[in-house]
This record gives sequence, C-alpha cells and structure tokens, in this order.
Amino acid sequence: MPAIPDPQFPVSKPVAPPVFSKILLFDIDGTLLLSGKAGYRALSRTFEELFGVAQGFDDIPVAGMTDELILTAALERAGVAADLETRARFHTRYCELFADEIHFPGPRKGLMPGVAALLETLSRYDDVRCGLVTGNFVRPAQIKLEHFELWRFFHFGAYGDDAPVRDQLVPIAVERARRNGVEVQRAGDVVVIGDTPLDVQCAAAAGARSVAVATGSYDEAALRETGAHAVLADLSDAGAVVELLLEPGR
Ligand SMILES: [Mg+2]
Repeated sequence: MPAIPDPQFPVSKPVAPPVFSKILLFDIDGTLLLSGKAGYRALSRTFEELFGVAQGFDDIPVAGMTDELILTAALERAGVAADLETRARFHTRYCELFADEIHFPGPRKGLMPGVAALLETLSRYDDVRCGLVTGNFVRPAQIKLEHFELWRFFHFGAYGDDAPVRDQLVPIAVERARRNGVEVQRAGDVVVIGDTPLDVQCAAAAGARSVAVATGSYDEAALRETGAHAVLADLSDAGAVVELLLEPGR
C-alpha cells in the first residue's frame, strides 16, 4: 500500500457502493493544462538552494516521467548523492516553491482546448468518475488543478509520490477508486487519457484503454505509433470525446 495518504478530494455526489462505472484517469501536464514551466522553475530553484547547482534540470526529459525519476536523473547528472532524508527535504521545498511559481506567467500556460467543458460534461454522468494518473507529486498536482479550478472534478488519483515508475500508477488509482465506492467490471472500463507514449504504456500495463491527445510534446503521428486505442488532436469536441471515452470496455 502506498505510504502517502490520498488527498482530500471534494465529493460532490455521495456514492452508495458498489457503483459499477467508467473510470477516466487523466494525466495533467500537456493533457489538461500546461503550467508555463512553473514546475521547471521550482525544481531548478530547489536544486540550486539545496545543492548549489544552477540549471539542474536543463535538458532532463520530463514528458511522461514521474517527479521522482526526474529528480534522480538531475542528481545523477550533477554527481550529487542524496539520501532519503535529503530527497524528503527536496520534496518539501519544491512543493513550497511550486506554490509560488504557479502564479507567474510562462510559455503556453493555460488549459488545453476543451478541457473545462469536457470535465463539466463528464461530471453530469452518474456512472463516470474522473481521477488522475500523473507523474507529479501530489501536492503540486493539487496546486496546479486548484489554480486552474479543475480540482473539484477529480475523485481519486495516483501520483509521482506513489511509485517512481508510471506503469505502477494505474492499479493504485483504481484501488483508491474502489475504496471510494467506485468499481469497474472490466479492466477495459478504465481509460487513461494522456499526451505521451508513457501514458499509453501505463494504460496497457494495467489492461486499461488509452486515449492519446496531441496537445503536449508529441504529435498525432508519433502517438499513433504507441498503440493507443484512439489519438486525438485535442479534447475540444466534447461530444465526440465523451462518446469515445464512454465506449464499452473491450
Ligand atoms: Mg503529460
């Protein structure tokens, strides 16, 4: 069982368990929104404060990676050894600085097309529950979604604090959904929506379906090669996206 507690999500509709439903697991960065490099700035500031190394995250791949692995890559490149206590201090300070950085402007900062309308539409379905599967640590994830007024749409999730490898996150999110009274009948009733090949891969690892969206670092052609069940340019056609997401699981 993961060590961190599931954060407190707003529960808009009490659920009488068990409710068999669709579970839609959204990635955050490049899928729901972009935070205008707030994460990069907060990571860099923290790294410099703790280890005296500037630009510690320049050219470190981040798309689809967990925050834990991103930190590991930066530490290795800088030749810095960090024990668990140091990593915990990094985590705490990073979250503090992220809460500051999210307020500043940055490149492409904002919601991805159609996201707010899609989540609003999905929230009206009694048998659909939206959750998160993200490489973000939970605290920055919550800060981002609260900043963009999306947090209220999500009922459970799995985060970069839960496991370093994204492939392990879907089962954690599904188990948290179950503890919230939301169950699926088949693995294919879980759909992962993400913007990178690693999102598609983590869905496949759990037997879930995947919808890849080309609003992040990968274009539609690259995402088609991942074996995603569907690839979309963006989430702007709410009607078509809902139909696709709510297809019966296979
Ligand atoms: Mg992403």
